Amino acid sequence: MWRIPLLGLGLVLALALAVQGALAQPGPRRPGGANGPGGGPPANGLPASSGVAWTDVQVHLRAAPGRQFDVAIESALSATAMLGRKTLVLVPPPFPSGAANANAHDYEVFLPSVRRHPGELAFLGGAQLNASLQATDPAAVGPDAKRAFLARASRTLDDGARGFGELALLHLSEFDGHPYERAAPDHPLLLALADLAASRNVPIAVHMEAVDTDMSLPPGLASPPNPPRLAANIAAFERLLSHNPAARIVWLHNGWDNTGQRTPQLVQRLMAAHPNLALALKFQRARVPQNQVMSPAGPNPEWLAVIRTYPDRIVIGSDSFFASPDSRAPTVFQPQPILGLLGRLPPPLADRVGSLNAARLYGLDAR
Ligand SMILES: [Zn+2]
Repeated sequence: MWRIPLLGLGLVLALALAVQGALAQPGPRRPGGANGPGGGPPANGLPASSGVAWTDVQVHLRAAPGRQFDVAIESALSATAMLGRKTLVLVPPPFPSGAANANAHDYEVFLPSVRRHPGELAFLGGAQLNASLQATDPAAVGPDAKRAFLARASRTLDDGARGFGELALLHLSEFDGHPYERAAPDHPLLLALADLAASRNVPIAVHMEAVDTDMSLPPGLASPPNPPRLAANIAAFERLLSHNPAARIVWLHNGWDNTGQRTPQLVQRLMAAHPNLALALKFQRARVPQNQVMSPAGPNPEWLAVIRTYPDRIVIGSDSFFASPDSRAPTVFQPQPILGLLGRLPPPLADRVGSLNAARLYGLDAR
């Protein structure tokens, strides 16, 4: 059940705007665009508690310019407290460098809050790993670069991170100030990271638009910064998945397709071929709405088939942003589709997708 009076007024406003599709990421280029054409969440009915506990493996923070990350974290906890939320996994956004955005941060900003709320919070580390990945030519990775990269990654885990992320393998620039990033999915630093992740039993969470075959940049995206053509990346992604089958790779943002190629059929094929692949579901409106998990009529049957076929490898990763009061960019949090999907799944499956899979894949109970 929603208990609106317990939420802050600002959040209620943000939610109300989000329901109307008016809550935008900053500065969209397209008229009416929020997180993609049309903006806003699918109109999938009234929000209601599903009664199913859920863990969100992809929660971001906005705290510039005051760097009040603790305040943003408290707001995330209170906004989700009455909605069945179990654990929030805080994830550093994948900026190409620390200088790229006033909000760029790595996991250090999470440590004090996670220590105060060990049962409710966990985190990934990876902003600096992502920056190294973006800046390093795969053909020029020598032993020193690999050693330094792995040392940083090990330190991230020693500091308490439950895995690595968010790493950008193909991240399209959707609006001014939003970076275009690309790293080869079979980049030698990533292959080395997969070996480390396997040996430490932690996941790697990646942001990668799907390009099964080369294509033109989808209409409505600016070039530059995006390239006019997008090169195929699925074959290289499969090389990463095959490189170390003990390395769990969490593919973020399923259901949020901006190329038209991340279809349930493609995802089915990859899930069948690679048991170490897991999917995080995102529900915001995307450029290609027919590949969303939730539609106005309810869950997409083809995505339901994926979920039923792989009940142990699907998690919720909402890609929500919680903002501190001094942040110019707003809170983006749309719980309705999460609750709507979990409420439509039979209880054993809902519990797995809601929280049990995340607990196992991210080691959330082992602490
Ligand atoms: Zn992302």
